[in-house]
Amino acid sequence: MESLMRNVFLFLSKNRIANRTAKKYGLRFGAKRFVAGEQIAEAITVVRELNERGIVATLDHLGEFIYTKEEATEAAEYCIATLNAIAESQVKANLSLKLTQLGLDISRDLCLNNMRSILEVASRHNIFVRIDMEDYAHNEASIALFCQLREEFGSTIGIVIQAYLYKSEEDITNLHRYRPNLRLVKGAYKEPPEVAFPKKEDVDNNFIRIIEQHLRNGDYAAVATHDDLIINHVKAFAKEHNIPTSQFEFQMLYGIRTQAQQQLADEGYTMRVYVPYGNDWYGYFMRRLAERPANVGFVVKSMFKS
Ligand SMILES: Cc1cc2nc3c(=O)[nH]c(=O)nc-3n(C[C@H](O)[C@H](O)[C@H](O)COP(=O)(O)OP(=O)(O)OC[C@H]3O[C@@H](n4cnc5c(N)ncnc54)[C@H](O)[C@@H]3O)c2cc1C
Repeated sequence: MESLMRNVFLFLSKNRIANRTAKKYGLRFGAKRFVAGEQIAEAITVVRELNERGIVATLDHLGEFIYTKEEATEAAEYCIATLNAIAESQVKANLSLKLTQLGLDISRDLCLNNMRSILEVASRHNIFVRIDMEDYAHNEASIALFCQLREEFGSTIGIVIQAYLYKSEEDITNLHRYRPNLRLVKGAYKEPPEVAFPKKEDVDNNFIRIIEQHLRNGDYAAVATHDDLIINHVKAFAKEHNIPTSQFEFQMLYGIRTQAQQQLADEGYTMRVYVPYGNDWYGYFMRRLAERPANVGFVVKSMFKS
C-alpha cells in the first residue's frame, strides 16, 4: 500500500496542469508546513527564527517545468535575489538550486551562463551554492557541470550524491580530486532497477557505505536525512575515526522532525534546514507526501481546518 501511494504521489508531482493550478491558488492543503512562504521576506523570517535557535539554513526558490530561455533567466534572477537577501539580512544561510530550473533541458550553455552569473554574486558575498540532484536523466550532465564550475569558482559550489544509484560509490571516488563538499541523500525520484537499488534496505546500506567513504576521504559531508539509524551511525563513526564535527553537518527539510533538528543543534552538531519558498510549491509538496504517506492524514486534516 505504501509503495502504491508513493508511486501515485510521484506521478502526481509531474502533473503540469495541477502544477499551474497550484501556482494560481497559492499555498494550500497543508503545504505551508513544508514551504516557508511565497515571498523571500517570509523565507528570511523563517531562517532568522531558525538561526535564533542555533540552526543554519539553505534557501531554495522553488521552480519546476522550465520551457523557455526567459523562464530560466528569471529563475537565475530569483537565485541572485535570494543571495542578495541573505547578504543584506546577514542570516546564516546558503543557497540550493536545480539545474533544470536554470535551463539545463533547453541548452547546456544557457544553464552554464546562468550558473556563472549566480556564482559571481555568491563569490562576492562569500555564500556557498549547492546544486540539488534531480532524476537520473540529469545526473551525468549535472556532475559534469559541477566539475567545470568547481574549477572556475572553487569551493563556492557543491553538489548532491544519491545513495539509491548504483553509480554513486564510483562518483564519489572520481569526485575526490576536487575535495568536494557533497550533500549525501537517499534519493527522492522514481528510478528503474537498471540504475537504482529497488530495495530500501539496499539503499540504506549504500547510504552508510558512501557516507563512510566520503568522510574517510577527508572531504566535507552534509548528511541529509531524517533517519535516526543513519544519524546515530554517523555520530558513532565520526567518534570512532576521530573525524571532527567541523567536517560534516546534518541536514533536514523544513517542517520535518523539527524536534530532532533542535536536538542535534543543541548537541553541538551543525544542523542545516532546507527552506524552500516561492509559488511553485506543488511538485515539492507531492514528493514530500510520497516519502511519507502518513503525512496525508495531516493534509486531509488541514483541508478541513482552512
Ligand atoms: C536537506 C535535504 C536535501 C535533499 N536534497 C535532495 C536532492 O538534492 N536530491 C534528491 O534526490 N533528494 C534530496 N533529498 C531527499 C532525500 O533523497 C530523501 O528522499 C528524503 O530525505 C527522505 O529520506 P530519509 O533519508 O529522510 O529517510 P526515510 O527512509 O524516508 O525516512 C527514515 C525515517 O525518518 C523519519 N521520517 C522521515 N520523514 C518523516 C516525516 N515527514 N516526519 C517524521 N519522521 C519522518 C521516519 O522515522 C522514517 O522512518 C533531500 C533531503 C534533505 C533532508
